[in-house]
Amino acid sequence: MNFFQPTTWDEALQARAQTPGLLPIAGGTDLMVEFNFDHRRPAPLMDMTRLEDAGRWWREGERIRLGAAVPYTRVLSELGRDLPGLAIASRTVGSPQIRNRGTVGGNLGAASPAGDSAPTLIATRAEVEIRGVDGTRHVPVADFFTGVKRNCVASDELIVAIWVPTDTGPQQYSKIGTRNAMVISVASVALTLHPRAGRVGIGMGSVGPTPLQAVAAEEFLAGTLDEGGYWHSRAELPESLVAEFGRQVAGCTAPIDDVRSTAGYRRSAVGVMARRTLSWAWSEYRHGDRRPTGCRAGRDGEGMTTCE
Ligand SMILES: Cc1cc2nc3c(=O)[nH]c(=O)nc-3n(C[C@H](O)[C@H](O)[C@H](O)COP(=O)(O)OP(=O)(O)OC[C@H]3O[C@@H](n4cnc5c(N)ncnc54)[C@H](O)[C@@H]3O)c2cc1C
Repeated sequence: MNFFQPTTWDEALQARAQTPGLLPIAGGTDLMVEFNFDHRRPAPLMDMTRLEDAGRWWREGERIRLGAAVPYTRVLSELGRDLPGLAIASRTVGSPQIRNRGTVGGNLGAASPAGDSAPTLIATRAEVEIRGVDGTRHVPVADFFTGVKRNCVASDELIVAIWVPTDTGPQQYSKIGTRNAMVISVASVALTLHPRAGRVGIGMGSVGPTPLQAVAAEEFLAGTLDEGGYWHSRAELPESLVAEFGRQVAGCTAPIDDVRSTAGYRRSAVGVMARRTLSWAWSEYRHGDRRPTGCRAGRDGEGMTTCE
C-alpha cells in the first residue's frame, strides 16, 4: 500500500489530484474502523497530521482558525474559553484515546449525521476552509453536508481548517445515547446565544440525513427574546416559552427509525434537550457566568451525556 506523508499543502493537493482513490487520514478513528470491518478496501493513504498548519490553531479577529488535524484533546485543553460549545461537544466524543487521535476535520470528513462537532459548528456559524489545486473556498458548516456520510469536498480537494467564531454568549451541547460515555448519539442539540447580535444558533445531530440547523426555532426564540425585552432585562424565561421552544426545535427535525432509536423517541428527546440547553444557557446569561468549565455527564441519570 502506498502511504504519502506530505508536509506542504501543494504536495498534498498534487498527490490527491494525481493518485486515484487516495484517502486522507488524520486520526484514523473512523477510517481504520471501516477497513477493519471491510466496509472500505484499504487504499493509498495520505497522512494529514504532518502538513504545515493542519495541527495548529490561531486567532484571527473574532474567529479561531482551527487546523483540520487538531485533535479533540487539544480543543478541550486549549480552546475551552474561546470555543466553549465545541469543547463541550469534544468532551463527549468516544474515550480519551479516541479524543487524543480523533480530529474535527476527520469528523467533518466522515460526515456522519451523528458526528458530535457538527451541531455546535452549525450553531456558531462556523465555516469549513476547503482547498483544491484551483484555489480555496469557504463553506458554512450548515451547507457542508450533502447526504448521509457525504459532504461537498470534491475528490481533488482537502479540508484545510475550520473557522469558528469565538463565543459572544453562552453555548451549550447535549447528547443522548444508550449510555453516558463511548456512545454515538441517538440525538443531540447545540445551542448558542448571541446577546450582542440578538441572535440564537441551534444545530442538531442524528435527527436527519445530515446534521441540521433549526432555522425556524432560531427565529422563534430570537424574536421572542427581543419582543419581550429579555436580552436587556435578563429576566427568568416563562415555562410556557421554554416549552414552546422545545416544540419548535422538535418540529425542525426529520428523524428516521433505525437500530439505535425510533423517530418518535428522537423527536421527543430533541424537544427535551432543547428545553434543557436553553435553561442552562439562559441561567449562565442571567448570572453573568457564561463560561462552561467541566463535564456534567449523566447529570440526571437518564443516559444524557451533557457537559457544562
Ligand atoms: C470507539 C470509537 C468511539 C467514537 N465515538 C465518537 C463520538 O462519540 N462522537 C463522534 O462524533 N465520533 C465518534 N467516533 C468517530 C471518530 O472518532 C470521529 O468521527 C473523529 O472525529 C474522526 O476523526 P479522525 O481524525 O480520526 O478521522 P479519520 O478516520 O482519519 O478520517 C475520517 C474521514 O475523514 C476524511 N478526512 C480526514 N481528514 C481530512 C481532510 N483534512 N480533508 C478531507 N477529508 C479528510 C478521511 O478520508 C475519512 O473519510 C468514534 C470512533 C470510535 C472508533
